[in-house]
Amino acid sequence: MLEWVRTNMGIIVQKFGGSSVADAERIRRVALRAIETQKQGNDVVVVVSAMGDTTDELITLMNELSSSPSDREVDMLLSTGEQVSIALLAMTIEELGYSAISLTGPQAGIMTEDVHLKAKIIEVKPDRVLEELKKGKIVVVAGFQGINSNGDITTLGRGGSDTTAVALAAALNSEVCEIFTDVDGVYTANPRLVPDAKKLSVISYDEMLEMASLGAQVLQSRAVEFAKHYGVKIHVRASFNNSEGTIVREERNMEKGTVVTGVTYDKNVAKFAILGVPDTPGIAHKIFSALGDARINVDVIVQGAKSNEVTDILFTVAQTDIKKSRTILEKICLEIGATGILCEEDVAKVSIVGAGMASNPGVAGRMFGALAKVGVNIEAVSTSEIKISCLIKQDSTEKAVKAIHEEFGLGK
Ligand code: ASP
Ligand code: MG
Repeated sequence: MLEWVRTNMGIIVQKFGGSSVADAERIRRVALRAIETQKQGNDVVVVVSAMGDTTDELITLMNELSSSPSDREVDMLLSTGEQVSIALLAMTIEELGYSAISLTGPQAGIMTEDVHLKAKIIEVKPDRVLEELKKGKIVVVAGFQGINSNGDITTLGRGGSDTTAVALAAALNSEVCEIFTDVDGVYTANPRLVPDAKKLSVISYDEMLEMASLGAQVLQSRAVEFAKHYGVKIHVRASFNNSEGTIVREERNMEKGTVVTGVTYDKNVAKFAILGVPDTPGIAHKIFSALGDARINVDVIVQGAKSNEVTDILFTVAQTDIKKSRTILEKICLEIGATGILCEEDVAKVSIVGAGMASNPGVAGRMFGALAKVGVNIEAVSTSEIKISCLIKQDSTEKAVKAIHEEFGLGK
């Protein structure tokens, strides 16, 4: 490639997830895509995840051999998956007649905090990447890994390759960070549930964050936070075709008049009710700070009407936090003299997300009306500036999502 062509153009970071590099044929397709992007005159950095279910398989194997492996060794093990992918992809690009080099996270200058398993990136030193780009190479970087101040390999939490890609895009001042996945963008609702769901051409960082944390499994939340902080434009698009996907960016000249952008749901929730809580100041603080100290995320909090100076408090946690929550709550119940704890798992949270909601009254009423029309009972509600969530019975999820989607006219 001619030097003048490249230096006139920008750097593009492309990230391919596990399913996009699951076998030789797919790795070849990724290689061709990266080459094509370079031919168009861009400097190309490709971030890849481990092939297919490699990370899960490594975890299974690990559990067969050790009941409590040290975090350092877990990271050493899990980071190997991505190293297989980068070497294979770099070889494939070379085989096709183009120049490439693979770099581990540490080699690519991904510096993290000292924590293992879920380390945050604190700095990216992109010198080596830039040096290799200057030589005309396609630079292939291992996602999901970095190095801490002790010189040990760390990993960034499940799905962390997204964050690697966004962090590199920020450090390289890249025009766009393209995230290739097995869906072709972000939809107004899960298309498997709602057949007429529409692909969004644009979504704001905040809306995407809500969608991501509410269960739309398209991007790792931390990657979106990172992108928002550094103003990195993300393009979520399909690895299996060439169509335009969804751009995630700052909310500027968004389509006027859209109040609700999408409907999401989360079945990974459990409802706790603490019964017979003495209705005195400081009790709620006691309960929720204890859960907070244990890093348990609480959502949808409702305090019931009081009778005889006692009240019920209802809230939700992730199903994965049930055991931990119960232990903490049993202790607190004794302390404060509550009469009992109930836990229910067959609930789900359906939510609407939209940046236009804050300035449009009546949205909640329309959502509740849509649920009432299909006979879905609302057990609790929580809201933010750009989100309204309702807690419902889990087996009503599909019906609820469809009804709300229809009410706000989000379909094709
Ligand atoms: N391979 C890691 C995982 O499965 C990282 C990623 O896919 O982004 O979580
Ligand atoms: Mg993944």
